[in-house]
Amino acid sequence: MRPKRVKAYKRAMQFYQKNFGFREPYQVLVAADFILEAVSKNLRVVETLEETLQGKIKPFVTFCTICDIRKESEHRAQAIAVSKSFEKRRCLHKDPISGIQCIGEVMGDENKYNYCVAVQDDVLRAKLRSIPGVPIIHVKQSTMVLERISEAGKAAGAAKAQEKQGLSELERKMLKAVKQKDREAKLALRKPRAKKKIKGPKGPNPLSVKKSTKAVTTQTSKKPLPSSSAKSQEKNKSATSGIDNSSTNADNTAVGAKRSRSEPESNAKGDEGGHMRKRRRRRSHKKSSNIATGSATGPSS
Ligand SMILES: [Zn+2]
Repeated sequence: MRPKRVKAYKRAMQFYQKNFGFREPYQVLVAADFILEAVSKNLRVVETLEETLQGKIKPFVTFCTICDIRKESEHRAQAIAVSKSFEKRRCLHKDPISGIQCIGEVMGDENKYNYCVAVQDDVLRAKLRSIPGVPIIHVKQSTMVLERISEAGKAAGAAKAQEKQGLSELERKMLKAVKQKDREAKLALRKPRAKKKIKGPKGPNPLSVKKSTKAVTTQTSKKPLPSSSAKSQEKNKSATSGIDNSSTNADNTAVGAKRSRSEPESNAKGDEGGHMRKRRRRRSHKKSSNIATGSATGPSS
């Protein structure tokens, strides 16, 4: 078969599959005149049908068709041999009628069982074209031909496609609504998220706030001062002295935060400074007292 024809037949069968639900193996109602014609052209009926329909097939013959084949003809024996392997399709005719008429009745107004029909008779083919979704095959010059999709078939296919699309759109909308509901339900069930820990200073800027009384009391425990203003003054002093003392170690351009951190050290140093001052004072006091006692005792001794 020519590749162009193969492509066209493939596309046609895809159309029947998509719009009318045809599936492999395709059920083919075979008429007596078709078998006789194929046999006369030395065509292998089943294989050539499969090649034409681009898939596996399941051939059927009605009882009326079998009666037609058995009638006297040139290729009777071969035709009977071929049809023997076909499945029998029951029809409601107790007294057999013409095979062509029988097939017409089996097909009805709609191709309910998704049959393909292999027939030579022009009248039946014309009738089948009016039924949407019937692949029609006939033998033409020793080749099997799959007819083009009939106008009725095309129209029905287009309508079905539109219907499908509409349905899918409706389904899509329903799906969207359901999903939205699900999402809301999940959100309602979800526990409130733990607050993210923010790194950095927890409280306000330490430089802009009074020093805690604890630190102050440790500093000023030796020198209790009555007023808070005095305390703060003392603090400032110690801070400044601390900075002065630690100027060799600490960076002068350090920011306030750093300064506040280095305060305890500086305070300690400041305290040391205070101790030194005290010692000096004591010494000077002793000297003065010695002088005083000396002066006092000198004359007496
Ligand atoms: Zn019949």
